[in-house]
Amino acid sequence: RVPKDCLRLFRMQASSSSRFVNSGKMSISFLHNKCFINGSWVDAKSGKTFEVNNPATGEVIGVAPDMDVEDARAAINAASDAFPAWAKTPAKERGVMLRKWYDLMVLNADEIAKILTWEAGKPLSESKGEITYGNSFIDWFAEEARRINGEVLQSPVRNREMILLKQPIGVAALITPWNFPHAMITRKAGAALAAGCTCVIRPAEDTPFTALALVDLADKAGIPKGVINIVTSGRPNAAPIGKELCENPLVAGLSFTGSTEVGKRLYKQCATGVKRVGLELGGNAPFVVFNSADINKAVDGAVASKFRNCGQTCISANRFIIQDGVFDEFVEKLRDRMSKFKIGNGMDSDVNQGPLINAAQVNKVESIVKDAVDKGAKVLHGGERASNIGQLFYVPTLLVDIKPNMACYTEEIFGPVAVCLKFKTEEEAVAISNGTSRGLAGYFYSNDLNQAWRVARNLEVGMIGINEGLISAAEAAFGGVKESGIGREGSSHGIEEFVYIKYLCFGGI
Ligand code: NAD
Repeated sequence: RVPKDCLRLFRMQASSSSRFVNSGKMSISFLHNKCFINGSWVDAKSGKTFEVNNPATGEVIGVAPDMDVEDARAAINAASDAFPAWAKTPAKERGVMLRKWYDLMVLNADEIAKILTWEAGKPLSESKGEITYGNSFIDWFAEEARRINGEVLQSPVRNREMILLKQPIGVAALITPWNFPHAMITRKAGAALAAGCTCVIRPAEDTPFTALALVDLADKAGIPKGVINIVTSGRPNAAPIGKELCENPLVAGLSFTGSTEVGKRLYKQCATGVKRVGLELGGNAPFVVFNSADINKAVDGAVASKFRNCGQTCISANRFIIQDGVFDEFVEKLRDRMSKFKIGNGMDSDVNQGPLINAAQVNKVESIVKDAVDKGAKVLHGGERASNIGQLFYVPTLLVDIKPNMACYTEEIFGPVAVCLKFKTEEEAVAISNGTSRGLAGYFYSNDLNQAWRVARNLEVGMIGINEGLISAAEAAFGGVKESGIGREGSSHGIEEFVYIKYLCFGGI
C-alpha cells in the first residue's frame, strides 16, 4: 500500500541536509530533495521548491528544488569545467565507472523501483522491468566506450596520411519525460558519458526523485564531480531552463525526449547556436493484424504494446488496424483480456494498470474518447474514469467504428484506450498506417513471409515489431522518422549523437 512511513521519513529528509535516510522497514535510501551540481547536493539558489504528487493517491510525496536559469547556468559551467578531464579519461576507465554505476543500480533496483512507482504510478512489476531495461543501457555503453574507433583512409596522393578521429562534442543537455523516468535518462546519459561528454540533466517535474536517485548512484560509482549535473524544476521553469540549455554557448548539444510540440520549439532554439540535436518525440503507432496472423499471439502483443504504463508509452500501439477476416475474433479476444485487468495503486502486487500521471493526462484521454463517441465510435469496454479507485484512473477502453476525423485516429492517445479499424487489402493497411505525420514505431502480425518483407519496407516508421509487441533493447537503435524525431538512441549508433568526426591530413610524410 502507500508507504506511509516512507512519506514521514521523506518529510524528515526534506527538512534535513543529510544525504541519506535510514528508512528502516521501507529501506528507501536514495531519496533526495536537493539537486546535484558540481559534485554537491544543493538547493535552488532562490530557495524555492515544488511539490511532487503520488498519482495513485494524490498525496504530496515530497518537494524538489524549483531551479531556474541561474541554477541551470551553474550546472552548465560545472559540466563545462569538468569536460576536458573527462574527455581525456581513457575510454576504458570511463567504461569501468559506468559499469560500477550499473552494478549499483542492479544492487539497488528494488528500492529505486519503489521510488519510481511512488511518483510515476506504474505497477511495481513494471517499474522493475523499466529498471532492468534502463540499467541495460549503462551496461551496454560501458562496453561501447572502448569501441569508439576512428578510421585510417586511403590517401589519393603520395606522401600523405588521412585519418578520421571521433571526439566528444562537449557538454550535453539531456531533457527527459516522466513516462520512463529511469530509462530515458540512462539511454541518453550512458551514451554521452561513454563518448566523453559531460552532462546536465533536466528530468520531468512529475518524476524528479527517480532521477535524483540515479545521480546519487553515479556519484557513488566514482563518476567525477561536474560530469553529471541535475537541475529539477516545476513546469513554469521548464521553458526558461530549456532555452538556456539550448542557447548557452557552453552547451554543445541537446538530447530531448518528449512531445513533438516541445521538441520543435527546442529544435528552433538550438538553431541559433547550430547545436547538435537529438529528438525522440511522439508517435502514432499502427498495429496491423493480417488474416494470416496467429490471433492469440497478436492479442498478447496488443496488450503488451498498448497497456504497458497505462498506455503512456511513445511506442505504444495507437491504432489497431485489423483485416476483415479476423476483425471480430481479434476485437472479442482483446475485449476479454481487457475485462480482466486489475486497476489500482501500483504498490499492490496484483495490480496491472495504475493511474495516469496527472490531471492533464486524464482530461486528454477523456476528451479523446468523448470526441470519438460524439463522432459515432462504439464503446465495447470502459469509456469512463475509474473514479471509485482515484482521481487519475481510467477504465481500459475499447472503441470500434473509428473514422479518420476522430482525434483518436490522428493524435497520440497516451492512455489505456484501444481503437480498432477494419481494412480489406494490404495496400489499404499500409496507407492507413502511413497516414500520419508521426513515424516512431509500427507493428504488424502476419504469417506470410513475402507480405512481411513488403510491409516492413513500406511502413514509414523508425522501428517495427513483426509478430512482436515489445521491441525495445539496448542493442537496438531507437528512434523515429517524420515528426517523431532525429537521431538514434541505444545500439552503437547512440554514441554517434555525442561525438563529432575530426579529419586529420598529415602531409609531407
Ligand atoms: P513534454 O514535451 O510536455 O515534456 C517533456 C519534458 O520536457 C518534460 O521534462 C518537461 O518538463 C520538459 N519541457 C516542457 N516544456 C519545455 C520547454 N518549453 N523547454 C524545455 N523543456 C520543456 O512531454 P510529456 O508530456 O512529458 O511526455 C509525453 C510525450 O513524450 C509524448 O508525446 C510521448 O510520445 C513523448 N515521448 C517520446 C519518447 C521517445 O523516445 N520518442 C519517449 C517518451 C515520451
